[in-house]
Amino acid sequence: MKQAKTCAVIGSGIAGLAAAIRLQQQGFAVTVFEKNASAGGKMSELSANGFRFDKGPTVLTKPEYVEELFDLCGKRASDYWTYQAVDPIFNYFFDDGTMVRSSKDPQQFAADVEANTNASASSVLEFLKQSETKHFLTDEVFLQRSLHKIKNYFNWGTLRGILNFGKVDVFRSMNTANSKQFADQKVVDIFNRYASYNGSNPYLAPATLNVIAHYEITLGTYFSEGGIHQVVTALHRLAEEIGVQFRFNTAVKEILTNGNHATAIRTKNGLDNFDLIVSNADVYNTYKQLLPKLTEPKRFIEQPRSSSVIVFYWGMNHAFQQLGLHNMFLTNDSKQEYEHLFGTGTLYEDPTIHLTISSKMNATDAPAGQENWAALISVPHDTGQDWNALVTQSRKRMIKKLNSILNTDIEPHIVFEEVLDPPKVSTESGAAFGAVFGNSSNSMFSAFLRHPNFSSKLENLFFCGGTAHPGPGIPLCLLSAKIVSNLIEEKFKPTAE
Ligand SMILES: Cc1cc2nc3c(=O)[nH]c(=O)nc-3n(C[C@H](O)[C@H](O)[C@H](O)COP(=O)(O)OP(=O)(O)OC[C@H]3O[C@@H](n4cnc5c(N)ncnc54)[C@H](O)[C@@H]3O)c2cc1C
Repeated sequence: MKQAKTCAVIGSGIAGLAAAIRLQQQGFAVTVFEKNASAGGKMSELSANGFRFDKGPTVLTKPEYVEELFDLCGKRASDYWTYQAVDPIFNYFFDDGTMVRSSKDPQQFAADVEANTNASASSVLEFLKQSETKHFLTDEVFLQRSLHKIKNYFNWGTLRGILNFGKVDVFRSMNTANSKQFADQKVVDIFNRYASYNGSNPYLAPATLNVIAHYEITLGTYFSEGGIHQVVTALHRLAEEIGVQFRFNTAVKEILTNGNHATAIRTKNGLDNFDLIVSNADVYNTYKQLLPKLTEPKRFIEQPRSSSVIVFYWGMNHAFQQLGLHNMFLTNDSKQEYEHLFGTGTLYEDPTIHLTISSKMNATDAPAGQENWAALISVPHDTGQDWNALVTQSRKRMIKKLNSILNTDIEPHIVFEEVLDPPKVSTESGAAFGAVFGNSSNSMFSAFLRHPNFSSKLENLFFCGGTAHPGPGIPLCLLSAKIVSNLIEEKFKPTAE
């Protein structure tokens, strides 16, 4: 019998799990090395005092990319994991009492905007149409394939993108496009906020990123039954069932090389040889920590970093009827907020707060009559600030804002608290500088400045995950794993000759 070639995957984030499943299914013998005690990386969960929290992502789009992995293995996804559409998607709250709801029905969302702001329903529907066009023109070209292989440019999808380049909207910022589109600053702020989904600044990031609205509203937002960490649990189970080996509590310390080959990895247990290596670890740290002797591709890895987060996980001994699964409390001055985040690297006094309450959908996430709040604000990545002081300051500011809009005092209701800050993002998931989304997307060339899914120096080293192409967020991480498996399929046979 021919011997299966061996592949190491470094990291069990969502992309590492997906890459491991795809490559094992292709015929490689895959071992995943994970420094933590369990899988998931940024998609971890926290359970304490009767409350359960998803520590990282809460907005799930494109669930079919998860299902595709079960299909590949001849399994039925619903035997492992189920989900349902979310409606309303977001409740947007403003300081003056205005409230807008986004809905999975674009007509209803547009009508709600018109009823509660000075922007017209037609401006919202037109925006969503433009966003759909952006998706149509960019998905195949920018997201589904490697951007860094010349041959991928010779196809109809790319030609279509080039012929319609104006509609891709790279030459103006999100804010410029949105200010022109909507007659109300509140609605501009709602749509500008999508820049934070990849840690960017809407005053600089290209209007191409307005495509994110298409994902969330038109294609729909979903709730993973049992919480989003169930995606990780289901993929981990699938991976084990098809034979992927997992080594938890086993950080990779070095990737060894010989000429243009990665040959082995070093862990606390010694050296292990592999035919292929896929890094799901942060690209910056893969070079700096695991490949210190290799000349690094500065152009890709030394781009400006994305923002990070402070998240308070609050167990609340009270149920708040006016809130839903996803709630956004918008700042009174978004320009100031982004200038603080990306200009001075400080925190604005009136932050935008994304408050997720998964117990609204999953009753067992909190004791009866209580709620699990994950209250998130964007903050600069870690450059050595005094995070203890900033966490204390943020807590005060966030509670003040929530109290004012909800017209109550929430503090006495907080019966459990834990915090995620940039240094913890860094230690828990290995993110360089605690930057949640790798490089920022604050330039029109940023899509081309994310690290490719392969190494140009080591022919059997590949990269997947939110810090490589095509970018952060669950759908793009899953696409990065698909691109890696396609690149490997083209180049390597799964069994030894
Ligand atoms: C608070 C927060 C909210 C978010 N909200 C959303 C959202 O609503 N929707 C959305 O789609 N996305 C969201 N994201 C982004 C999303 O979570 C990430 O883009 C995605 O989970 C990143 O996955 P990844 O595959 O890149 O791996 P990561 O999750 O970054 O995991 C990398 C793994 O590699 C391991 N590792 C690193 N170095 C080593 C080493 N040397 N040896 C062994 N193991 C190593 C780490 O321990 C980790 O487990 C959010 C992120 C955060 C933090």
